[in-house]
Amino acid sequence: MKDQNFNFVSSLFRYERQKTATVHVGDVKIGGEYPIRLQSMTDTDTKDTEASVEQIIRIIKAGGDFVRLAVQGLREAENLKIIRAELNRRGYGSTPLVADIHFSPAAAETAIKYVKKVRINPGNFYDPRAKFEKVDYTDEEYRDELASIEERFIPFLHACAERGTALRIGANHGSLSDRIMSRYGDTPAGIVESVMEFLRICKKTDFHNVVISIKASNTRLMVYTVRLMNYRMRLEGMNYPFHIGVTEAGEGEDGRIKSAVGSGALLADGIGDTIRVSLTEDPANEISFARKLVDIFKGREKHAPISAPMISQTNPFEYERRSNRPVSEIGGKKPVVVIASLNNYTLEEVRSLNTGTEPDYYYDGRRIFNKAGRAFPILSLEDYLFNDLYTNQERFIRTNKPEYDVLKAENPEIVEKLKNERKAIIIMESNNLNSFAELRAFFMELDAHICKNPVILHRSYQENDYENLLLKASTDLGGLLIDGYGDGILISNQGTLGYNELKDLSFGLLQASRMRVTRTEFVSCPGCGRTLFELQGTLAEVKKHFRHLDHLKIGVMGCVVNGPGEMGDVDYGYVGSGPGHINLYKGQKLVKRHVPSERAVDELKKLMMDSGDWNDAPIVR
Ligand code: SF4
Repeated sequence: MKDQNFNFVSSLFRYERQKTATVHVGDVKIGGEYPIRLQSMTDTDTKDTEASVEQIIRIIKAGGDFVRLAVQGLREAENLKIIRAELNRRGYGSTPLVADIHFSPAAAETAIKYVKKVRINPGNFYDPRAKFEKVDYTDEEYRDELASIEERFIPFLHACAERGTALRIGANHGSLSDRIMSRYGDTPAGIVESVMEFLRICKKTDFHNVVISIKASNTRLMVYTVRLMNYRMRLEGMNYPFHIGVTEAGEGEDGRIKSAVGSGALLADGIGDTIRVSLTEDPANEISFARKLVDIFKGREKHAPISAPMISQTNPFEYERRSNRPVSEIGGKKPVVVIASLNNYTLEEVRSLNTGTEPDYYYDGRRIFNKAGRAFPILSLEDYLFNDLYTNQERFIRTNKPEYDVLKAENPEIVEKLKNERKAIIIMESNNLNSFAELRAFFMELDAHICKNPVILHRSYQENDYENLLLKASTDLGGLLIDGYGDGILISNQGTLGYNELKDLSFGLLQASRMRVTRTEFVSCPGCGRTLFELQGTLAEVKKHFRHLDHLKIGVMGCVVNGPGEMGDVDYGYVGSGPGHINLYKGQKLVKRHVPSERAVDELKKLMMDSGDWNDAPIVR
């Protein structure tokens, strides 16, 4: 067995943390053999010492290893000194602070005196705000800009080295410089290159106390770009640690599923040395969820060995659904289906329980039913191979990779039978501690033999706690969906969680991995010192008015510094433009400027009506 891995990870089938260099953030070390560090960011005004200190202490008490603050300019940078002193006085001297800088090298130069790490955005640290206009750079102009960046960046790196301050080079989808946009557009290659330009200068200067990050609110884009980044670093002999996270994930269940799917897909391949879960909630909540997410992978290296064929997988750097032949309404180019576990209810009973989207199929433990009540049999792999049952009708075969491997070793004809099969859908299961990799290996095995059967991903749990179930299902299945594997999902649970919870989680997983949209997507930032309105209440208000518009993505962002770019591919944006005022966007285009916030929801609704995107909410009786 040989791993085909495109060199973006050391193994596709064996769980291990990727080997990265160690970075020193004060006394806290990131990367190498050190545990995955948890962090969050304050949403207070960094000039407000008391509020910032109080919040930092809450984050530390929740388990944060370090805390980041927004530093817009010199006044915020200077106040870091007072915040640091106050934290020391209250007994929190060992937790390093991190300064978050955009557009202000001067603020960074001041901040490095008071914090142990500075985050800079390569898209706007030295480059001016991108104009989102196509600018043609000649090779010479491009080189000159880079040379000018190098000239300013090298003294900054020397100053960091002198003080022992670490650096994060953190790029975000939607905030690239015009220079990068001119060559690459807002693409994974462009995001990676924007980080590489800065990393090459670090390497040349022998400055290695560097962490990198690449974030996006689109889970797929985030995962592909981080993998590409890891691949590019390996090619250039670099192994800087990764800070990972899905940015602007939103809040509540949707924000958690999105974070677990995106960051979980990376953690499952051992990528990630420090993590931030971005939620539009109290920052301390981010830490508790990040802790649980990281703990899902604890001990995973002890998983049973996984055999895999010598073939390539689907492209790990861009979306490509696994090619397969549809059977009935499953597979091919049809939407990925949800099969809902009846959990001891009858089909008739669950129909009255249905809230939200109705599942495509139902499962009672023995058979699968479509919405019309037609039953499809489920066979074991052995029955499928040896007993000619239900050969002329559509049916499911339930199996797992170890069972398939044993059967295939003694009966190699199984491969030909599956290859020529036109009416069977495989329900693919795994009980391996690393089920993500075992299911991935099973897909590769099928693809190696050109077995084009559609596949339902199935996982069974025994959970009574919804958040635990959410974490397990998202990390087991999310990465596979992102890689284009699976034509349907089926989640079973022996615990107390009911039918609706399993069904809604299934739809949530498909939405978070961008496989199927069934709810309005709210892209909302977590808030920081730049936030210009009360974010959590505003998001709740926006959700209340627009949550029935499930064909739309709506951004709710705290400020115009990063909001417009980072809300990504939303259909409408609601962005703070000043205290008590909002800018409204249609896509990336600013259409209403500085609307008083008490009128902003109505103005957004009017904008949607004028654009033909508004429907009245259905009346709930
Ligand atoms: S969009 Fe603005 S307010 Fe929101 S987290 Fe980003 S920088 Fe802070």
